[in-house]
Amino acid sequence: MNKILITGANGQIGTELTVALRERYGSNQVIGSDIKRPVANHDHTFQVLDVLNKTAIQALVQDEGITEIYHLAASLSAVAEKQPLRAWELNMQGLLNVLDTAKIDQLKVFWPSSIAVFGDHAPKAFCSQHTITQPRTVYGISKAAGENWCRYYYDNYGVDVRSIRYPGLISHTAQPGGGTTDYAVEIFHQAIKNRQYTCYLKPHTTLPMMYMADAVRATLELMEAPSLGLTVRTSYNVAAMSFSPGELEAAIRKHLPAFRADYRPDFRQTIADSWPTGINDHQARHDWSWMPRYDLPDMVNDMLVRLRQEKDLR
Ligand code: NAD
Repeated sequence: MNKILITGANGQIGTELTVALRERYGSNQVIGSDIKRPVANHDHTFQVLDVLNKTAIQALVQDEGITEIYHLAASLSAVAEKQPLRAWELNMQGLLNVLDTAKIDQLKVFWPSSIAVFGDHAPKAFCSQHTITQPRTVYGISKAAGENWCRYYYDNYGVDVRSIRYPGLISHTAQPGGGTTDYAVEIFHQAIKNRQYTCYLKPHTTLPMMYMADAVRATLELMEAPSLGLTVRTSYNVAAMSFSPGELEAAIRKHLPAFRADYRPDFRQTIADSWPTGINDHQARHDWSWMPRYDLPDMVNDMLVRLRQEKDLR
């Protein structure tokens, strides 16, 4: 039976992925871990775990009989640019510690990459699976290197490691952790509370995005796909929708007519400008039948309904 360890489980993705994995495999089969205990945590299986401590990872894997690791702990794009070497250490050494543990115990691993692996020389509008990856951010550099390490561990040690290049993710449960696409979550909170939002990207900056429900489902589907059909052992492109801050503002205004956004670009504009505007996910659709369910209007509608219910926002 699967026994799963999630690293970085308190983050934007981990919060929802933990719930989904527990629904699938049972609460006692899924251990959430993070460097810090969450403020209000009643989860008796939660473990404090620093992914930079390889001995601690290996001890936990042995003690709990772990068979799969979902390795989410990382420094995201905007935070990473402020402390590049710290981000490099966390993103790279953390991954190598997990891969090396998986090699010893023949564990299955999920590790997320990002659209940040692409750079100025990759196609902008419909960015292909196999193309030039020359990222200009430390985050992108760490993801591109990580993808190659994943394939190396698969090729040389038989580690069944699977990966997705997530686009910007939009969710209503946990706050985003310092990425370039965080605006697409913040805008909802501000639209409901204040009917006003100041965006740090220009209004026409189109980026690939995905609703968290689709991202979690993609993760589970890739991990459950038969190994034989998987042709990509670096990381799969996946796509759902692309939009700009101006288009998101207009889509929210259909529900909240008084809402207005203004635009004051900061350093994150340069990061966004180096990323593609759209993703070609043909290979994921072919290899493991990936198909998104949420487009922009569906996502906006669901976000507004759920934020009003869960956060008691009006
Ligand atoms: P997040 O920043 O919300 O969460 C990361 C978590 O890692 C935090 O809870 C943090 O406390 C924890 N952490 C930090 N240092 C740690 C350490 N040394 N040991 C253990 N835990 C530590 O990030 P997220 O948005 O949930 O992203 C998870 C993964 O998905 C990352 O690899 C990220 O690069 C990738 N990703 C995210 C997005 C997105 O839009 N959220 C897009 C593409 C890829």
